[in-house]
Amino acid sequence: MIDLHTHTDRSDGSTAPEDLVRQAMAEGLQALGIADHDTLAGYEAALPFAADCGLELICAVELSTRPSEVREPGKRERSVHVLGYWLTEPPTAEFRCWLETQQSSRRRRNADLILKLQQLGVSIRIEEAEVYGRNQVGRPHIARVLCDKGYVSTIQQAFDVYLADDAQAAVERDEPTLEEGIRLIQESGGMSSLAHPVRLPQRGSELVRLVERLADAGLQGIEVFHSEHSAADCAEYAELARRFDLIPTGGSDFHGENKPGIRLGQGINGNACLPYGFLEQMRELCTVKRL
Ligand code: AMP
Ligand code: ZN
Ligand code: FE
Ligand code: FE
Repeated sequence: MIDLHTHTDRSDGSTAPEDLVRQAMAEGLQALGIADHDTLAGYEAALPFAADCGLELICAVELSTRPSEVREPGKRERSVHVLGYWLTEPPTAEFRCWLETQQSSRRRRNADLILKLQQLGVSIRIEEAEVYGRNQVGRPHIARVLCDKGYVSTIQQAFDVYLADDAQAAVERDEPTLEEGIRLIQESGGMSSLAHPVRLPQRGSELVRLVERLADAGLQGIEVFHSEHSAADCAEYAELARRFDLIPTGGSDFHGENKPGIRLGQGINGNACLPYGFLEQMRELCTVKRL
């Protein structure tokens, strides 16, 4: 079995890279893809531990992108996640440098977000969120602080009231456009995959049009299996993959305690269980597409 979509505490998961490797072995996984948000730090930290126990580690990343080319002033769009997988060669130095710029843009966003929260009367400091997000503070970490301090009673409520893209403390971050994200991954030697399409606002024929547009822009894959996908969703996305010649990808989107209920290598009630052959097929299709 394999899991190709997981997060460590180097982004917004709660599990240290070393512990994630251990947990993957305990679940009997043969391959593990670490796809932290905008960073390879978790993957890199896990490498020596995976080598020690013979676990195949897949280099991946999950980029936040903005769906429209043109920004409408005052309108905050929901980010679209794009996965990058480096199955045949490691990412280029240029891509790693570009990821660094994303870290800086996150830090600026976090400072603005904290300021906005303070203006709304919330007593919070960035250092408090850094306790949860040691390498990179993300909104889920800020949400945890809001919970701890009693401003909200659940993480979801923290998003609904303060942190969601259309909530009162929302701050726009400098994100690449979807097309740029796809291009950056491709130019760095990776394959791109549209993450958890179920979270997109587009449905039915609108989703078909979006996927067509992205396939034209060089998108190579689509996440067919994910813990938030029902059987019907998986069937719909598998059909999109076939129609637009996209490589099916999948994984649980494990975040440890930050998203309880998602089991590593399994998803929710086993909906993200994938055999090793699935990865072999991804690799094969990648090679074919490059010819
Ligand atoms: P960040 O990368 O810091 O912008 O945070 C993005 C993460 O916050 C996503 O990966 C989700 O896990 C979470 N998130 C974003 N929007 C929402 C929302 N409306 N409700 C719940 N979680 C959200
Ligand atoms: Zn995440
Ligand atoms: Fe995601
Ligand atoms: Fe994810």
